[in-house]
Amino acid sequence: MCNPLIFQDILSRNQILSDPTEVAPYAQDWARDFTGNASAVLLPKSTEEVQSIVLRARQEAIALIPSGGRTGLCGGATATNKEAILSLEKMNTILSIEPTEQTVQCQAGVVTQQLHDALAEHKLSFPVSLASQGSSQIGGNVSTNAGGIHVLKYGTTRQWVLGLTIVTGEGKILHTGKKLYKDQTGYDLRALFIGAEGTLGIITELTLAVTTLPQHYTRVLCATDTLSDLLSTLRAARSKIPDLSAFEFFSEDALSLVLTHHAHKRPFPKSYPYYGLIELEKETATALEELEPVLTPLLENGTMKDAVVSQSMLQAQELLELRELVGETLSTHYQPHKNDLSVPVSQIEEFIDEANNYFQEEFPAFHPIYFGHLGDGNIHLNIPKPSKLEANEFFKLAHKADKGIFEILTRRGGSISAEHGIGLLKKDYLHYSRTEEELAYMRAIKAVFDPDNILNPGKIFDV
Ligand SMILES: Cc1cc2nc3c(=O)[nH]c(=O)nc-3n(C[C@H](O)[C@H](O)[C@H](O)COP(=O)(O)OP(=O)(O)OC[C@H]3O[C@@H](n4cnc5c(N)ncnc54)[C@H](O)[C@@H]3O)c2cc1C
Repeated sequence: MCNPLIFQDILSRNQILSDPTEVAPYAQDWARDFTGNASAVLLPKSTEEVQSIVLRARQEAIALIPSGGRTGLCGGATATNKEAILSLEKMNTILSIEPTEQTVQCQAGVVTQQLHDALAEHKLSFPVSLASQGSSQIGGNVSTNAGGIHVLKYGTTRQWVLGLTIVTGEGKILHTGKKLYKDQTGYDLRALFIGAEGTLGIITELTLAVTTLPQHYTRVLCATDTLSDLLSTLRAARSKIPDLSAFEFFSEDALSLVLTHHAHKRPFPKSYPYYGLIELEKETATALEELEPVLTPLLENGTMKDAVVSQSMLQAQELLELRELVGETLSTHYQPHKNDLSVPVSQIEEFIDEANNYFQEEFPAFHPIYFGHLGDGNIHLNIPKPSKLEANEFFKLAHKADKGIFEILTRRGGSISAEHGIGLLKKDYLHYSRTEEELAYMRAIKAVFDPDNILNPGKIFDV
């Protein structure tokens, strides 16, 4: 429990929220499995203010929850125990953009879309694209090592982080990494904070590498009767199109939910069990030269049942929305239990077959929905709450079901979290993906940077 008055000499009145109705929206992220319960929200404006908050929190044994856009899907930014939320939203300044060296410096609370828009003015891009980027923050993206749809071509957020300013849980200001592409000078401390979900330090400023903004996108939506046929399409596209920028997928179940709640038109005259979304950063005419040798044989031999190629940027955007609206539609209308899994591409078909059999036999009331980043093996498995079950009962059952799914996944060489992280949602299952030795080193690292366990306690693992 935090008494907000103890921060009164550090922050001004409008930087501390304690009215429960103002605090409530900050207490929870998009993972609906947990109920938010925070005592105050702190809104620092500078690294120095963050440092003073952390030092005071250490002194008074107050737990702090670092909070970005709260679009995280594993309870990482959720307070469940009357902790104080430390929101970065007032630290939202882009400090510099260097077109020649292709770098940007900004505060951690810059909204991802805000950064995309500012870079676009210089024909530059931070190539991490998420459906949540209108709300997520750069500090949150780095703290979750966000992936998104362009990992095939550009990798995850990690690849773009050059330097970080961090206030550690110890209360020290740490500058690690510089505006340099090359700097081999001992341990890479910066790497420890990427994907650390706010458990080691609070990221306050960043230097990112950026790249040239693509001027065109061509997207193909294709339909298949089986997952096996969709995977054959992926293999053909990857072998014949070297700079493929995305290969996404969704099932008919996912598409029909989107079409129920949005004005988008069904893309083909009839429905098919699976859809793939292929993207090239090229104009349609140039893209077609590369696409035809892939699409034509697959359409002729029946592997692919239908395909539509975007003829304009607007059409390309509409096709992408069919995929991007799946997650949001589920979260907004169906109270889902979400799973973000990583599976070796060669094992995806077997994994989904086994998962379906498992649900049918053990949890027949569950109706799994599959979508995600097929090209890099990132499968989103969502189970909407069946209308007959109460939310509490449903989430309890869904967590029980996870165990069997993670056992199948482990046998298939996968990971329990591809890009959303562990947070509260998956900490009981971390041993499926990490060894005892790894967990022991992680706890030792936590003790170095956050000796009193005041930063995001209980997230990823218990100390
Ligand atoms: C519709 C939708 C689509 C999504 N699509 C994708 C996707 O394609 N790929 C993907 O990777 N994710 C996706 N996500 C998940 C989410 O958007 C990402 O994880 C995002 O990077 C979280 O950023 P945020 O600012 O919202 O972080 P938050 O949710 O606020 O926080 C996430 C974690 O980081 C910590 N944190 C936040 N800011 C800081 C900071 N400055 N310093 C230290 N710790 C901090 C928090 O404590 C928490 O543990 C999606 C989410 C939604 C709702």
